[in-house]
Amino acid sequence: MRRILFLTACLCIWAGSILAQIPKSPEVKDGEGQYNQLIIRGVTLINGTGAPPNGPVDIVIEKNRIVQIQNVGSPGLPINNARRPALKEGGKELNCEGMYALPGFIDMHGHIGGSAQGTPAEYVFKLWMAHGITTIRDPSAGNGLDWVLEHKRKSADNTITAPRIYAYTAFGQGNRSGIHTAEQARAWVRENAKKGADGIKFFGAPPEVMDAAIRENKALGLRSTCHHAQVDVARWNVLNSARAGMTSMEHWYGLPEALFTDKTIQQYPADYNYSNEQHRFEEAGKLWKQAAAPYSDHWNKVMNELISLDFTLDPTFNIYDANRDLHRARRAEWHEQYTLPSLWKFFEPSYQSHGSYWHNWGTEQEVEWKNNYRLWMSFVNEYKNRGGRVTAGSDNGFIYQTYGFGYIRELELLREAGFHPLEVIRSATLNGAQALGVEKDLGSVEVGKLADLVIINANPLKNLQVLYGTGAIELTKDNKIIRTGGVSYTIKDGVVYDAKKLLADVKKIVDQEKAKTGWQLKQPGIE
Ligand SMILES: [Zn+2]
Repeated sequence: MRRILFLTACLCIWAGSILAQIPKSPEVKDGEGQYNQLIIRGVTLINGTGAPPNGPVDIVIEKNRIVQIQNVGSPGLPINNARRPALKEGGKELNCEGMYALPGFIDMHGHIGGSAQGTPAEYVFKLWMAHGITTIRDPSAGNGLDWVLEHKRKSADNTITAPRIYAYTAFGQGNRSGIHTAEQARAWVRENAKKGADGIKFFGAPPEVMDAAIRENKALGLRSTCHHAQVDVARWNVLNSARAGMTSMEHWYGLPEALFTDKTIQQYPADYNYSNEQHRFEEAGKLWKQAAAPYSDHWNKVMNELISLDFTLDPTFNIYDANRDLHRARRAEWHEQYTLPSLWKFFEPSYQSHGSYWHNWGTEQEVEWKNNYRLWMSFVNEYKNRGGRVTAGSDNGFIYQTYGFGYIRELELLREAGFHPLEVIRSATLNGAQALGVEKDLGSVEVGKLADLVIINANPLKNLQVLYGTGAIELTKDNKIIRTGGVSYTIKDGVVYDAKKLLADVKKIVDQEKAKTGWQLKQPGIE
């Protein structure tokens, strides 16, 4: 029963609850490099720090480090060859004239799929890498901490095609009898650190357990995050977590509760049942309007305190996108080619699959959620404006959000919240690195940092949609419809991956399953 409790508490846990059945990712190397010297020639750089685009530049990488960034001319004029860094013997050049380079993206909420969705790790990893995601934080280590740490090592050694992995174990994972006391909590936290985890993902627990676990974890130098599930949020919200030393939060649950002024508990209807997911998600859509209004005294006070505690928000806007427009999320143009049939089946309305609460979802629910988003986005945007850290996390593999694609949607939604495209990119890169505590090595394209880059033949500041694997639609002067963008190269740790080839591999995995099952995407109830 304990597992049931976990399952209902989180968007995450379903994915990896049955450990033994997870297919292993094949140990093939799809990328090329590292090189003694790799020079990316003539690219326009968006470096992730908030600096505007600058170029053309040559970026020189040795093995896996950026060693030089050299301006090589003026925009629109031929490259000034005299300025170009010389190619060493055995060096490799990548001609990227006219293209844009960005830091590798960091997905702060990246589940690696699993048996409930029927998704092989290779499918998930390649979708991420094809979208320029070179680092993920796995919030719950849903495939088991040992499995995640094994793949973290393989990724670090570049023996598999996968982003860098940071493992934040689900609090209590592996403890079958549950954690009921502060002492049990501290013991579990110490054991988790000893095993090599990077942090903890909480879902809520009794206050004394939360407090002890967060403090012990912090004392050990690890980081933490929480999906403040409704079952515990009335007695422990986001402010409690931040004050105890938690470093970040997922989604948004627990924030409206910290912002209540005229109530202490969400206004649940009497027939509400948390395990009924239509109840859970429908009522969540009415939550922000129950909290203090934007810019009111209490709203300001809570925001300012969270910022003073250096607390990171990881909103995962995209994972609730279907709640305000189910048609859009279901009919996204990449599903036919890139959503694995078993994943599609997992998304479809069901009383059982997590995040498939489309029992009776329509205009009323969507309008509530649209209003919910406005209040939520106001908070997140102002948090950023006052110096608070906001990151980009996808939580994909649920609610019609396919890996990689959903992350790009997250960037679009940060834009919608009010972020300038450069602020969006910074959230997706440097802010993520800071939240993970790895900004010395990752998060921006600067000399001395590890070589994680995204290279694309279009300007993502003009249209973030060019970052989708399927690119963006463009009409040429002679009236032809073309696709612009899709990441061209993903460079991770100095290894160069052809992002289009990775996407083709994903399509092959999908095609194989289609051929095996005869599946084709249909609208439920329509023959
Ligand atoms: Zn999750």
